[in-house]
Amino acid sequence: MLKRLDENGIKAGPVPDLLAAAVAAHGGRPALNFMGRRWTYGELGELVDRAAAGLQQMGVGKGSKVGLCLPNTPYSVIFYFAILKTGATVVNFSPLYVERELRHQIADSGTTIMVVPDLKVIHSRVASVAAESGLRSIIVCPMRGILPFVKGWMFQLFKRKDQAVFSEGDGLHLRMDTAMRGAGKFTPVFIDAQTDVAVLQYTGGTTGVPKGAMLTHANLTANAHQVIRHVDCLRAAEEKVLGVLPLFHVFAMTNVMNIPVALGCEIILVPRFQLQDLLATIAKEKATIFPGVPTIYTAINNAPGLDPKGLSSLKLCISGGAPLPAEVRHRFEQLSGCKLVEGYGLSETAPVLTANPPLGEIKDGSVGLPVPQTVIEIRDLADPHRVLGTGERGEVCARGPQVMQGYWRRPEETRNAFVDGAFRTGDVGYVDADGYLYLVDRIKDVILCGGYNVYPRMIEEALYLHPAVAEAVVIGVDDKYRGQAPKAFVTLREGESATPEELLAFLTKQVSKIEMPKAVEIREQLPKTLVGKLSKKELVDEERKKARPA
Ligand code: AMP
Repeated sequence: MLKRLDENGIKAGPVPDLLAAAVAAHGGRPALNFMGRRWTYGELGELVDRAAAGLQQMGVGKGSKVGLCLPNTPYSVIFYFAILKTGATVVNFSPLYVERELRHQIADSGTTIMVVPDLKVIHSRVASVAAESGLRSIIVCPMRGILPFVKGWMFQLFKRKDQAVFSEGDGLHLRMDTAMRGAGKFTPVFIDAQTDVAVLQYTGGTTGVPKGAMLTHANLTANAHQVIRHVDCLRAAEEKVLGVLPLFHVFAMTNVMNIPVALGCEIILVPRFQLQDLLATIAKEKATIFPGVPTIYTAINNAPGLDPKGLSSLKLCISGGAPLPAEVRHRFEQLSGCKLVEGYGLSETAPVLTANPPLGEIKDGSVGLPVPQTVIEIRDLADPHRVLGTGERGEVCARGPQVMQGYWRRPEETRNAFVDGAFRTGDVGYVDADGYLYLVDRIKDVILCGGYNVYPRMIEEALYLHPAVAEAVVIGVDDKYRGQAPKAFVTLREGESATPEELLAFLTKQVSKIEMPKAVEIREQLPKTLVGKLSKKELVDEERKKARPA
C-alpha cells in the first residue's frame, strides 16, 4: 500500500472562489484567448457576474441542473463559472452527441436549461430532443459576439446557412443577450464545497452505462491544487495553457480551465483539433503548457513538414486519458525539447490520481506517483478486501479529496464502485518499490486466452516499437481453441509501409507465444472517443458481428 499525505492541507473551497481570487490578484492579466481575441480576468469576472445574474433571473439556483453543450469558446468558461456561482450544477454535454445520447443524458440528469452556440449543427440536435427529454429553455450564444471583429463580420455575412434558426417567441429559446439584459445585480449564494455537487460528469464507468459522477466543489478545487503542488513548476500569471482538449471532458475541465484560473494564467481556447492550425497556434501564441492525449502527440510527431522551432515555447506537456507509448514520449520530447509527463485519472476522481513528477524521475511506462493527499491501493482481483504488496498486480483503488460522492441517482452502482471506502477504478496495475504506479490494463479489456490473462496493452506497446506503426489497438476476439485470442489493428506512419505478415514476424521477437495476435489488420483510421482516445468498442462490435452474424 502506498501513502502520501501532506501535512498542510490542500485547499478545497467553492470553484467560483478560484476565479474571484484571480480577478482580485491578476485583474489586468489575460484570462482567455480565442482566435487572437483576449479577455482579461477583470473582464471575465464581469461577464461571469452578468451571466450568473441572468441565470438567477431565470430561477437558477441550488438544485438546478444546467447543461453546457459547447465547443471550446469563451462561453464555456463564462457559463461554467456563472452556473457554479448560482449554486447550481453544471452538466457537461459533448456537442458531438447524437440525439439518443442527448435525450438520455438530459433526462437522466434532470437538466432543464441548456447553453448552446448559435451553430445549426449543435443547436438543431438539442432543439429536436428538448420537448421529450424535459428541457425547458435553450440559451443561444452568438458566435459573432466572441470572434475577433473581422472574423465575426465574415461569419455573419458568409456563414448564414451554418447559423441556428430559432424564434425567441416559442417559449423555449432565449438569446444570451436577452437572458442577461436587465438582470440586475447577482445575489451571492452560500456554497458548501464538501457537499454541493458542482458537476455531473457523465462516464461509462466500468459497466458501460453512461452515468453521472457527482463531483463536488471540493473535489474539483482539491484536484486543481493537488496537481499544481505535484508538478511544482507552474508560474502564477505567467503560463499560457493550450486548450485543445474539450472542456466538457474532465481532463480539460481541471487542467485547461480550473488550474490556469487558480493561477491567473492565460487559456488559449482551440475549438477543434486540426493539426496544422494547432501547430500554428502554439507557435504564434507561444503556449507554455499543453495538456493532451497520446493521439495528439502522435499526430504532432508524424506531422508532415513539422518545424520543431514552432514548439520551442512549450515548457510542460501533460498526457492523460490513455496509455502514452514510451516511443511517442521520447520522440515528442526530442522534437520539442519540452518534458512530456504522463498522468492518470478518471471522471470519478476529478480526474487526476497520479502523475510523473516533471522535476523528479520520470519512469517509462509508469503513470507516476500519487498526487498529494492521495492513497493508491492495489487490491486482489478475486478478493478485493485484500490489499496487495509491492509489485503485485490487482485492481487499482484510490482514496483522496478528489474522489466523487457517487453516481447520480444510482445507489447500487455507487455501492459497487467502492470497497472498504476506497474507489475501485476498474484498472489493473501494480506499484513498484519507489511508489510509481504502472497500469497493466482495464479489467474489462483483459483477454482470457486459454487460461491465461493477456493484457492488450503489452502487445500495443510492442507494436509501437515498429518504425512504421503510428497507432495500435489490440482487442480480444472469439477463438475456437483458446476461447479468446488477441487481434491487432494498426495505422501506419505517413510514407511508411508494412504488411500484416511483417508486423506479426516483428511481434514474435517482442511478445510471448500466448500473446501473439491471431491477426493484424492495417487500417487508414482507427476509431477514437470524443476526447481523442483510441476506442476499442467499435472494433469489438465489428468483430462480434462477423463471428456471430445476427
Ligand atoms: P474517463 O473517465 O473517460 O476519463 O476514463 C478513465 C479511464 O481512462 C481510466 O479508468 C483508465 O482506464 C484510462 N486512463 C486514463 N489515463 C490513463 C493512462 N495514463 N494510461 C492508461 N489508461 C488511462
